[in-house]
Amino acid sequence: MLKAIKIRIYPAEEQRTRLSIQFGCARFVYNNALEYKQTVYKETGQNVSFHNLITRLTQLKEEFPWLGEADSQALQQSILHLKNAYVNFFEKRAMFPKKKKKHSRKQSFQYPQRVKIDSDKIYLPKVGWVEAILHRPIEGMIKTVTVSLTPTGKYFASILTDDGIAVPEPLKDLHEEDVEAVDLGLESFYTDSNGGKIANPRFLKRAANNLRKKQQSLSKKMKGSSKRNKARMQVAKAHEKVANARSDFQHKLSYHLAGENQAVGMEGLRVKNMLKNRRLAKAIGDAAWGGFMNKVGYKCLRLGKRFVKIDTFYPSSKTCSQCTNIMDELPLNVRVWTCPVCKSFHDRDHNAAMNIKHQTILELKAAGCTVSARRGLRKTSELEAAA
Ligand SMILES: [Zn+2]
Repeated sequence: MLKAIKIRIYPAEEQRTRLSIQFGCARFVYNNALEYKQTVYKETGQNVSFHNLITRLTQLKEEFPWLGEADSQALQQSILHLKNAYVNFFEKRAMFPKKKKKHSRKQSFQYPQRVKIDSDKIYLPKVGWVEAILHRPIEGMIKTVTVSLTPTGKYFASILTDDGIAVPEPLKDLHEEDVEAVDLGLESFYTDSNGGKIANPRFLKRAANNLRKKQQSLSKKMKGSSKRNKARMQVAKAHEKVANARSDFQHKLSYHLAGENQAVGMEGLRVKNMLKNRRLAKAIGDAAWGGFMNKVGYKCLRLGKRFVKIDTFYPSSKTCSQCTNIMDELPLNVRVWTCPVCKSFHDRDHNAAMNIKHQTILELKAAGCTVSARRGLRKTSELEAAA
């Protein structure tokens, strides 16, 4: 099973210089390969293969001898990242790959191997042994190590390991109670198919005053002054705090969802369309649903649970979950409604979550699962208590 652990590392001054060379070279190789690939395509209509781009590295190193200061495998890894960016684009998960900027929000590069770890230090090729804080021993084989630098000047190493243990096989015979669906929203962060609601923490909104003040103070400082640098760091720190709080919240919640159920259903989001509504765009960005969905998805995978993403075009809000009557219209501000056909009274989000659950069950069945209506033990904790 693959596991990722992120640790803080504390490079000495000289090591920071060597790290910045690694960041720079990895970025250069990525941008250069992207540009080369695009140019060749424009001029000849030919697709340069990623294998070719990797072989081309030798030539590139002759042309730019300073690339020799970078770890050569980390440079190859840059090409593989470009390949992933292309794949994500062609599978419609991402925009077309863009050049990486020197002053981007976060800098990173990746070692595919040869990283060693001791109790309080980590060995990074071309950099040396770097002081680190490990909260627990790293188990299993190290697959990759990604080193990153945040805008607030913190260095991290994300270590991906494989413990050699197979991922548990998800159950095939399920009860309806094993399946939970959630409807993501802004009123509540989500409403589940049992009617439970999780309040939307609105991290960005809560920090808005603080962020505005810090931003204003930054804009008043003279360009290139040390005070301006200090103010820029303050802004970055405030943003980092928001991002950390959000990530922490989403990790806990996704762990709970994946851990307590055998299958979790969610609705694919037409976020792009929703972002066109400028009034809502900020709140939607703050909720960061996409990131949450990813977290639930990979946690389910690791725990041997099933994750179902249902069709974006399914009218989960407008359908009555009791009689399947579909309303012509149900404006966003209508929070409760009564079905004109069967007279059921609905909480908008709970009704949507029940429909998503229904749809999830259909997809599970289509994938070869049985989903029985018999009341079983639902929660993992209940199953453990009964064992
Ligand atoms: Zn109805």
